Amino acid sequence: MNQYTSNTSHSQKNEFNNLIDFRSDTVTLPSKEMLQNIQNARLGDDVYGEDEAVNELQGYAAKLLGKEAALFFPSGTQSNLTAILSHCQRGEEALIGKNYHTNLYEAQGASVLGGVGICHIDTSASGSINIEEMLSQIKEDDPHYAVTKLLCLENTFSGQVQPQGELDALAKAAHRKGLKVHLDGARLFNAHIYSGLSMKKLTSCFDSVSICLSKGLGAPVGSLLVADQATINKAHRLRKILGGSMRQVGVIASCGMYALKNNIQRLQEDHDNAKLLATGLSSISELSIDYGERHTNMVFVNCPENHRALLEKFLFDRGIIVTNLDRGRLVCHLGIEEKDILNVINAFKEYFK
Ligand SMILES: *Cc1c(COP(=O)(O)O)cnc(C)c1O
Repeated sequence: MNQYTSNTSHSQKNEFNNLIDFRSDTVTLPSKEMLQNIQNARLGDDVYGEDEAVNELQGYAAKLLGKEAALFFPSGTQSNLTAILSHCQRGEEALIGKNYHTNLYEAQGASVLGGVGICHIDTSASGSINIEEMLSQIKEDDPHYAVTKLLCLENTFSGQVQPQGELDALAKAAHRKGLKVHLDGARLFNAHIYSGLSMKKLTSCFDSVSICLSKGLGAPVGSLLVADQATINKAHRLRKILGGSMRQVGVIASCGMYALKNNIQRLQEDHDNAKLLATGLSSISELSIDYGERHTNMVFVNCPENHRALLEKFLFDRGIIVTNLDRGRLVCHLGIEEKDILNVINAFKEYFK
């Protein structure tokens, strides 16, 4: 059981209105305004490069991150995989933080499909990688070893913003050794809002960056790989190989465009709500709450084992979905408002009364 697998059977959730679903910021549904954007999208066959909505989105994202080009993907997993395969050949390896998504939750795609070795590096609870530790994993030129080509980092990690100085220093050290550096920035917009640093500043030290539109930004589908033109050219072929080239995909890209134009600033609300939730729940002595400095939209709740299943059921009966309460991840997103948070805090208190 991992954080992405529910251990309850709330599959009927879509039949309910007003459910407060904390499992992930991926559960958001597109707003009416976002859906209206589809009707105005100038569609075409994107395999021919003729979908104007996709071209607009890719151009917009490249500019936002200050890179040469961007490519639209159906998922963050495929975008990360493509990035790794763009930077590494068969028999080469990528260094990846042990607890990062690319190491744990992407089914080792780079090894399975690309013959790329993954060497994982220890990560602290807050997501940091020690530079010396990273450097010590770069292999010498020796036939016993795979050739180290890439370092993969992640921001935010478990909802925690990574100190930009640390990321810049890691990237610089890796570059000096001739490695490329990729950032899994599935929730990089949360780091942008938290830190006030521009997306350009957050990504300037990376050769490639993957961003998700379907997390806090609220688009139904889609991720973007952003990089220099040569890397995107390779990625374009790899995306075809992986079956990720789609036709009139402006239907979903136009939702992504709406998300980038309208849903970035509002992430602050999610951070405020998470903080409110953490503060409210921390008054319950049975729970231990993890929401420290650098946390954004996720609150982690540890509940005593004997209460977990009962509490989940108690909350679900009140329209609140939380799961895996050994270290339950409560994710705030655009489907959850401040008044919901107050109701949730009251429901938790009522259970423990
Ligand atoms: C969601 C996520 C991804 C990509 O996941 P997909 O479900 O494939 O879009 C990658 N990295 C992190 C950290 C994520 O949270």
